[in-house]
Amino acid sequence: MADANMIGCKMTEGIPQHLRPFVDELKRVLLLEQECGYIDGVVYEGCLNDYLAVWSERASALVKDAAGARVLSSLRREFVDYTSLDLGAREKWVGRMLRALEKTGSDSPASARIRTPAGGLDSGEGRNGGTMKLNCAPRGKGPNDRVDADPPSRAGEEARGLGKPHTKAAAVSKLRSLDDPVTYVPGVGSSLATKLGKVDVHTVRDLLYYFPFRYVDGSQFRRIAELRVGEIQSLQVEVWQVRTDRRWGRQHAGSEAIVGDDSGNMRILWFNNPYPAKTLKTGQRIVITGKVDVFGGQRQMVGPDYQVLGHGELVHVGRIIPIYHCGGGLSEFEVRRAVKAALNLYARAVEDPLPPRLLRDALLMDLPDALCQIHFPDDQGRLAKARRRLAFDELFYIQLGVMQKRREWREDQQGVPMPLGRERLAAFLDSLPFVLTASQHRALEEILADMATNQPMTRLLQGEVGSGKTVVAAAALLAAVANGYQGVLMAPTEILAEQHFRSLQPLLGATQWGAAGLAAGTQPLFAEPATARLMSDRPIAICLLTGSLRKGEREALRRAISKGEIDVVVGTHAIIQEGVEFARLGLSIVDEQHRFGVMQRSALRQKGFNPHLLVMTATPIPRTLALTMYGDLDLSAITELPPGRRAVRTYWLKPTQRRRAYDFIRKQVAEGRQAFIVCPLVEESDKVEAKAATAEFERLSREVFPDLSVGLLHGRMTGAEKDAVMARFRDDELDVLVSTAVIEVGIDVPNASVMLVEGADRFGLSQLHQFRGRVGRGAHESYCLLLSDSPSDDGKARLAILEQTNDGFKLAEEDLRLRGPGEFFGTRQSGLPDLRMARLSDIEILEQARELASILFKVDPFLEQPQHRLIRERMRRFWQGATEELS
Ligand code: ADP
Ligand code: MG
Repeated sequence: MADANMIGCKMTEGIPQHLRPFVDELKRVLLLEQECGYIDGVVYEGCLNDYLAVWSERASALVKDAAGARVLSSLRREFVDYTSLDLGAREKWVGRMLRALEKTGSDSPASARIRTPAGGLDSGEGRNGGTMKLNCAPRGKGPNDRVDADPPSRAGEEARGLGKPHTKAAAVSKLRSLDDPVTYVPGVGSSLATKLGKVDVHTVRDLLYYFPFRYVDGSQFRRIAELRVGEIQSLQVEVWQVRTDRRWGRQHAGSEAIVGDDSGNMRILWFNNPYPAKTLKTGQRIVITGKVDVFGGQRQMVGPDYQVLGHGELVHVGRIIPIYHCGGGLSEFEVRRAVKAALNLYARAVEDPLPPRLLRDALLMDLPDALCQIHFPDDQGRLAKARRRLAFDELFYIQLGVMQKRREWREDQQGVPMPLGRERLAAFLDSLPFVLTASQHRALEEILADMATNQPMTRLLQGEVGSGKTVVAAAALLAAVANGYQGVLMAPTEILAEQHFRSLQPLLGATQWGAAGLAAGTQPLFAEPATARLMSDRPIAICLLTGSLRKGEREALRRAISKGEIDVVVGTHAIIQEGVEFARLGLSIVDEQHRFGVMQRSALRQKGFNPHLLVMTATPIPRTLALTMYGDLDLSAITELPPGRRAVRTYWLKPTQRRRAYDFIRKQVAEGRQAFIVCPLVEESDKVEAKAATAEFERLSREVFPDLSVGLLHGRMTGAEKDAVMARFRDDELDVLVSTAVIEVGIDVPNASVMLVEGADRFGLSQLHQFRGRVGRGAHESYCLLLSDSPSDDGKARLAILEQTNDGFKLAEEDLRLRGPGEFFGTRQSGLPDLRMARLSDIEILEQARELASILFKVDPFLEQPQHRLIRERMRRFWQGATEELS
């Protein structure tokens, strides 16, 4: 190869004007390659070899004169097979090419090379052109485009010190984008891409974020003599002998090898796998990871993974090995290889949206490192740091999004103060047949304080099943009505809406609106309704608005609501979905929050003008989760049950005890009680569920309880049918109610004392706890019986926990641990982004993310400052999936 001087000599005549753009482009690419450490990773779509070939083709097409042809051919002669050079040779070659191109390039060496962002020329005096840092190499643009760079020396250093250090990444990222299809990753062809597509990996970004779900630690290396039986360990050995093992016949040929190191030797067997015998060669050095066992007094390994030394980096053995979920015909090996190749080429293209100072203060690993370490950790410490960083990101972007929603709702909008006043509150409390518990009191104080300000309330009220949320909600409704506003209470099912409707009437001393309603006036339950003093002209008017009303009825209600004749509306989703117009909506209450997502919540807020919002949930949500999922809400919790409640006794029965369970139900019925029987979860389809429940109902009423009156409830019944069945059960006309999971939420029948759950292992803990909450609501000792024919290990764990504790919060934590947040809530329902890395038990990370997000939010609430551009983009991207699903 010619040396630099020779290249220089040949080109002293200078480069003709028409070729300059091409030469400058080549220079830029070489500078970038130098910048990136000669990884042959800077050229978009391919290696530098390809680029050089294409470059010279393009240039020759444009050559206009003999001088140009001479220069071009002298340059071309210097081109090498770059990709095959080692790093040292690459460095030398790039340096030589650059020096030569410098000398002969343009009139002013720096001017063609670099222009400052403002368009001014950088003289480049006194600088070594080869160390200049590009920060932008436009991709896919014409050769005449100029290249922007850092401002010259001092200014450049300062800018870097102030948190603009993404220069390298920015430069590379222009050439390689994480949005590139996976096929741009070396070694990923179309068939592998198809398989990756099946696990939703389409772009390089998807691949880099396809995290391992666990690791096998093969980083412990031992010599053969030191191997310990039963432990995963790695060894570096030489292949002494290798042969095909035909003991099990040709069809099932295996491999057998003898390997050794300076401490001894050992046999390795691969059953039913002829591949090692075909590929391994005597004398090769290999790394093996696996467990050693003893056979016939001899130590051996069976079926370990191995990699031949010198054939690329260790990815499958001899390290902490990532294990991926491999659907769609993928193998671990393919995923590891693809991820490794993607990291090699693209990790530098990852721009870290978080400013370096934040990373430093928060002790966070930078993003490119975190991505490398999460897949191929150097050690456990770095793995933990990578996990921490990636979990931080998720929680951070969630927090930012949630804060944004909160601001949209609260800070931009004026609400109306709706104080209830001491006197009215006292009157209300006096009217109740019981005394509020301490935590009911506290929650109520918090709610009324919120409502008394001119910021719209956004509060979540948590409280176990039966903890008495309804009465608190009633007081809030009273505050709205007392100030001349309307209130709405929404429930997820008709049955629940109806139940609320019924329990609110006496609490509010309200009268049902309608022909029979207002005119006749239902008799208030309490002697002195709190509201007697409240409304001078008429009692509080309340209505029930559900999907199963007849059209005429619904229209009449709508009109009355829009005229303000109705004060309190109780209903189902139908209310939001059908766009009811309120005259003066002051308070929205949503019961059983987890059925409503963030999006539905926003939809509800659009009603009327900035109503106060209270969401109630009986699903005990661990604090961490609540902060994450409902960061846009303030929290109140009712943490105790009203006095006198007895814990429901829970028994996990063996399948053989089913008879006894039925006998027990019969005994309870004989004592005047009632029972629920919940059918197993078949699949997420009302139709299939209904069919299974119907069959079970028929079997039970014919064969098991022919003498009792048995009812059936499932999701395919109309609202009216369901209500009719529930009414019969409530009125004690039915002894046993066979039901699908629709029974889950909030049904209140105090006389019911037995809850039998079939196929109990198939339900989540929180759901089982909800079922259990259907009984024990009256004065009677109550029982929850769990049946399961063949529970999985997870199922067994759930049932055992349920048997042990009645604490809903503890159960929810366990549920999260066992099932993960996705299933616990279902992203679809929560309207929140998927969490891949963050565990909801990551309280410390969550709190850190919250704190930093709120600082950022204060400084730059709309993320408009240029240094926050990437954060804004990432946040959008992160939330995109979640909102698309709901819209
Ligand atoms: P949930 O929180 O599940 O919605 P409810 O509001 O339906 O609970 O209350 C369950 C039952 O407890 C109702 O019958 C209600 O009247 C009663 N209750 C509520 N608060 C108290 C209290 N402080 N003392 C006694 N009983 C109460
Ligand atoms: Mg309730």
